[in-house]
Amino acid sequence: MSLYPAPEESGFYGHVDKAIYDARPDIKAVIHAHPPALVSFSIVRKLPDMNIIPQAKHVCGPMGYAKYALPGGEELGEKIADEFKKGVMSVIMENHGTVVGGSDLKDAFVRFETLEFSARTIINASTIDSPKYLSDSQIEVFESSIPKDLPELAEVEHPAAELSIRRNISELIRRSCEQGLMIGSYGTVSVRWKKNDFLITPRNIPRWEIGVEDIVQIRDGKREPGKLPSRAISVHAEIYKSNPHINSIILTQPPHIMAFGVSMAKLDVRTIPESWVFLQDIPVVEFGQQFDRAKDLAGMFSRNTPAVIIRTDSIIVTGDKLLQTFDRLEVAEFSARSLIMGKPLGNLSPISELQIEDLRKKFLPE
Ligand SMILES: [Zn+2]
Repeated sequence: MSLYPAPEESGFYGHVDKAIYDARPDIKAVIHAHPPALVSFSIVRKLPDMNIIPQAKHVCGPMGYAKYALPGGEELGEKIADEFKKGVMSVIMENHGTVVGGSDLKDAFVRFETLEFSARTIINASTIDSPKYLSDSQIEVFESSIPKDLPELAEVEHPAAELSIRRNISELIRRSCEQGLMIGSYGTVSVRWKKNDFLITPRNIPRWEIGVEDIVQIRDGKREPGKLPSRAISVHAEIYKSNPHINSIILTQPPHIMAFGVSMAKLDVRTIPESWVFLQDIPVVEFGQQFDRAKDLAGMFSRNTPAVIIRTDSIIVTGDKLLQTFDRLEVAEFSARSLIMGKPLGNLSPISELQIEDLRKKFLPE
């Protein structure tokens, strides 16, 4: 949610909005803004390719491109409305910014946020390497991969411990969104409750809006009645089954970690002692494993491998307490950011093998 709003332009743009509403009765809300990454695309006159992460193409819909026109003039309104008439849900305005439509303000905002996030990921990945895009068929596989829903529980109880987990998840997911570690259209958080039972975030709700009552209880392989768990549920279930030491999981797409996720550059956390001690080495698995090889993916985690990147999808971070998992995620994102920012200065000089051994002995004794 950490996006930059446009300067106050109300009145100035009234007829742009009207032209869009006249052209597209299905659009009920419009956001016009100049967020930095989308403006970067606008001033080099390019459209960001939404095949950069699995949900973006579907969430954002096709994009249009409107040639420059004087702000506040009718010509600009016409040029933008002409693009919307083609059926697009958002438009890049040449040397200006973006206009995004939605069925309501929330819908428009999720789209706007995902667009800016995708643009940032492409820019960050281009700084360290070059972004690799998903094919249309990979995106189709993703869209059709909604898991067969677990059967519903006959009865559900919410003892105090269960309620406290709900509060933790809901609070932490809001914090992740506020700190730019998660966006509304993607991300799953879960916490083990007892044995292999756990609580997990739902699907189809913008992440920054998930409340205590939206969290889904999973008990004995069944789900809380009337609620749909996240699509990533099978990976979470398998991780808990095969890793008794793991009690919480965050799956998300932070914009600097994802620069490594969508390119072939390695997220080498041998940057500073804290990064390596928190994360050790972060392996990468290919896109698709989260659907058809969830068990293999779960088997990659261990005490020495708390985080795994799924290429062009997300990072999965695990830990004991949820706060510990969140700390790891934060450290990983900061490390990724330092690597990207350091790139124009020179190549990473990593901590040596000998220094790593010292860190292992002191901080991670067997
Ligand atoms: Zn403007």
